[in-house]
Amino acid sequence: MKRRTFFKDTALASAALGFLLPTVSQGLEAEETAWSYRKKKAKNIIFLVSDGMSIGTLTMSDVFLRAKNGTGSNWLGLYRQNKVKRALMDMASASSVITDSAAASSSWGGGVRVKNGRLNTGDNGEEYMPVWQKFKKVGKKVGCVTTVPITHATPAGFCVSSKSRGEQSEIAAKYLELRFDVMMGGGEKYFNQKEKGIDLFPQYINSGFQVVNTKSQMLETNSQKPVLGVFDVEGLPYEIDRLNDNTLRQNIPSLAEMTEKAIGLMKDHKAGFCLQVEGGKVDWAAHANDAPALIYDQVAFDEAVKVAIDFAEKDGETLVIITTDHGNANPGLYYGKDADKKFETLFSMKQSTSLLFSLTKKGESFETLKERIMVGQRCAFEDDEVKMLIKKFDEQPDSGTYNEYKLPYELYANILRKHTNIHFGGTDHSADFTELAMFGPGSHKLPAFIKNTDLHHFMLEAAEVENKF
Ligand SMILES: [Zn+2]
Repeated sequence: MKRRTFFKDTALASAALGFLLPTVSQGLEAEETAWSYRKKKAKNIIFLVSDGMSIGTLTMSDVFLRAKNGTGSNWLGLYRQNKVKRALMDMASASSVITDSAAASSSWGGGVRVKNGRLNTGDNGEEYMPVWQKFKKVGKKVGCVTTVPITHATPAGFCVSSKSRGEQSEIAAKYLELRFDVMMGGGEKYFNQKEKGIDLFPQYINSGFQVVNTKSQMLETNSQKPVLGVFDVEGLPYEIDRLNDNTLRQNIPSLAEMTEKAIGLMKDHKAGFCLQVEGGKVDWAAHANDAPALIYDQVAFDEAVKVAIDFAEKDGETLVIITTDHGNANPGLYYGKDADKKFETLFSMKQSTSLLFSLTKKGESFETLKERIMVGQRCAFEDDEVKMLIKKFDEQPDSGTYNEYKLPYELYANILRKHTNIHFGGTDHSADFTELAMFGPGSHKLPAFIKNTDLHHFMLEAAEVENKF
């Protein structure tokens, strides 16, 4: 009650001064909503993870959206309106304070810290049952949607055990055996290994799955049978590239579209459902210091946050967890002349650096590359900068041994930052504690600081599922 009085007094004082009133009353409303959740259990769980999202990435997506449409991000909106409980999370793995996505997802998935590279598997091959299997055993529908291969570390950590995250074809076969209800993302090459003559898609169809490869096929699926949606060979395109290509936009769903469909397919299930939603390419963009890819993919993730929260607000029995598995590259918008204005260069960009690089080959002409950068990213690079880039491309081995990881991403980012004021602190994962927000039943129990493995038990307890497995 004391807290209520404080809010009332603050509201009155604010009213007298003529400001802040909407924020305070929103806070009060959120307080009451949170209170009403305390009696309920979480029938459903939606777990959203922006992979490799440093706090600078979250901040920049909000600055971007505030400057662009005045509203800011949905994620930060939940903070501004005081609608969620919030914590920092310690994501260390069994082998390092700096986790990889496999050990990170396993910590939540199996409730045990494993070494980097492994999925719910200990030193002596012991396996820890992943959380989506536990929920499936008690009758819930479960699924994952992602922008990277559906067999990739983050979805896999909630679904299977494996001694190596690299065994993606084996993981694709395990998914068939385990019959998860909705699995959608990229990774065709792990289901159909053409060189080995192994194609799992007919096996999925024969065992009763609806297998889809395009957005329109996805929209036509129903909740009668499980759904496997695979929309690209490897990862899905970066959002900035998808948005600027009519064919891609028509054929490949956005993360928010997959999220909405997955919820629609599982929401009427009596025993409830659990869905993991991964913005997987936020991590890939951070590794590549690819600022336009990074911001647009984080914004795409943020749209999936809105889909989940809109559903949970209406539903009232859904716990929404929003987080990241580790920082990556510590990007940020840095102080400098006209920094705010330069950052807005991102508004008019049409292409990720990764796509721009994939179009650029050995022996590229100076004019072509300069023009490509101008058209794709609306930036006029200096002549000597373009020449330096061409030299780097010319130093690449001949095609066939073309190695994307050797391309001059850092050099490019250091030039581009003169136009955007976005700097990167490196090209790999960081040990930063991660941001964690929760909405809905059970969320009031979130402590201010939590160990990754505790989140496993947190989900089971919120859903009142006994951990007897
Ligand atoms: Zn990574």
